[in-house]
Amino acid sequence: MSFYIANCLLEIMSYDTVYQKDKKDCVFSKKIIEQLNSIVPNGVSDKEVDRVTYSKDYWPITLRWLLDGKLPALPDCIVWPENAQQVTEILRLANREKIPIVPFGEGSGVVGGAIPIRGGIVVDMKKMDSVVEIDDLGLMVTVQPGINGMNLERYLNRKGYTMGHIPQSIYCSSLGGWLACRAAGQFSTKYGKIEDMVVALEAVLPDGTIIKSKPVPRSSTGPQVEQLFLGSEGRFGIITEATLKIWPYPEERSMLSFAFDDVYHALEAVRKIMRKNVYPAVVRIYDMNETLRHFYETKGAKDKCMLILLMEGDKKLVKLENEISEMTCKGEGGVACGDEPVHHWLETRFNVKESSEFTPRGFIFDTVEVSVGWKNAPNLYKTVIEAMRKVGGVVVASGHASHFYPQGVCFYFTFGGIPPKDAAPFTFYESVWDAIMKSCLEEQGSISHHHGIGLIRAKWLEKEIGERMQMLKKIKSAIDPHNIMNPGKMVVEREEN
Ligand SMILES: Cc1cc2nc3c(=O)[nH]c(=O)nc-3n(C[C@H](O)[C@H](O)[C@H](O)COP(=O)(O)OP(=O)(O)OC[C@H]3O[C@@H](n4cnc5c(N)ncnc54)[C@H](O)[C@@H]3O)c2cc1C
Repeated sequence: MSFYIANCLLEIMSYDTVYQKDKKDCVFSKKIIEQLNSIVPNGVSDKEVDRVTYSKDYWPITLRWLLDGKLPALPDCIVWPENAQQVTEILRLANREKIPIVPFGEGSGVVGGAIPIRGGIVVDMKKMDSVVEIDDLGLMVTVQPGINGMNLERYLNRKGYTMGHIPQSIYCSSLGGWLACRAAGQFSTKYGKIEDMVVALEAVLPDGTIIKSKPVPRSSTGPQVEQLFLGSEGRFGIITEATLKIWPYPEERSMLSFAFDDVYHALEAVRKIMRKNVYPAVVRIYDMNETLRHFYETKGAKDKCMLILLMEGDKKLVKLENEISEMTCKGEGGVACGDEPVHHWLETRFNVKESSEFTPRGFIFDTVEVSVGWKNAPNLYKTVIEAMRKVGGVVVASGHASHFYPQGVCFYFTFGGIPPKDAAPFTFYESVWDAIMKSCLEEQGSISHHHGIGLIRAKWLEKEIGERMQMLKKIKSAIDPHNIMNPGKMVVEREEN
């Protein structure tokens, strides 16, 4: 939520908070603010307009709350550090005073991960946005975590490289958020997800210790503890630098699309392509509803399921990948639809106007990504779609698959509807989520592929990871005994602070 919108809101509404009833006043003593000011001169604010601005992330239900005059939660203040040393001192102070800390990238997280539900200090990393170094010989870039995703990719493109990490939110998300959520980009089938790209990390622990790994291709030096930060959602500390893999900008791009009778034949085609060790950069399968929504102008797509493929890299390799993919798709009954649908996808892939268009009309919707092995993929798709449709009030239930592995696939489900008369918006919203989570677990899927746990999935995490939950809790309490880091996220816990 921008500063401008927050300012307008302050003028027009009296608000309530969902997570901290009646919290409007800053509970911080002037002393804490003064101490923060001495750590980060001109980089601290406890103004109401800033606190309102940082009251939410992009979790879709929070827009409904906002329209109903409710803010999710208010932080006590916001700090904008400029280097790892300042982060260290902020965390030392918070640890001493047992103040909650919420690391903040760009607030594009969609599961409530950056909402300051216990108040405290939001540490916005945007001022730490420098590219430290490019190592051309080793194909690596070292960057600070607050860098905006598109600024990083454009910088690399200008120098003749790509990172190949292009999430749909690339214009509004940061490197730190990607690492903390284990993000996945649209070109992930070739380039991998963010955790495949990380070579080294620097992070500050809650007691202020700075840990740093070396930018070497691999080590056999025990467990690589810094990897705990991948998917940590701000629970273990603050990531302050990362070294990532980069690639020479691709020489050639080629695009193909095919219409299949159903999702299952399209999935089979991709499974067989992957089995041949061929990795197109973009692979997306749309079910019939989504094909109708996105490719209604494509001749041959009516009542079909579209598969789009984009190959890129070395000219000769791309030609070969093209041939193998085409032959495999045709072998599974795919009808070639040319490259136009892929161009259409490329042009429209960052459009996300639905939430601002439909939420004000009372429509509640969300997208939920899960992953599953090939063996269970067809059943999981079918079961989740049926489960969403069974929830009263749901009018849209559809899916596509957008990240692929020789072992399985990520499905991305969309639901939308209007809560029945007797149901509050959140009750309706949560029942659809519950239906999806439950059927995903029943069909042996993983409840999140790349958005993370945050608030909405917290109650499901233990069911997903079983005994590992105890291990995770022990690690957390060893690293962060006062539970200052992003409390209340990922796990359902009592208010300890
Ligand atoms: C329209 C739209 C499209 C999206 N598309 C994709 C997609 O294609 N792929 C994908 O993976 N996700 C996608 N997302 C989700 C979101 O963009 C990602 O989760 C992203 O990784 C969040 O980055 P951020 O910088 O906005 O983080 P924030 O939302 O600010 O924070 C997310 C979490 O990371 C923690 N965090 C942030 N920075 C740090 C740090 N430096 N150290 C420690 N913890 C930190 C926060 O505390 C929080 O728990 C999309 C979201 C939207 C709104």
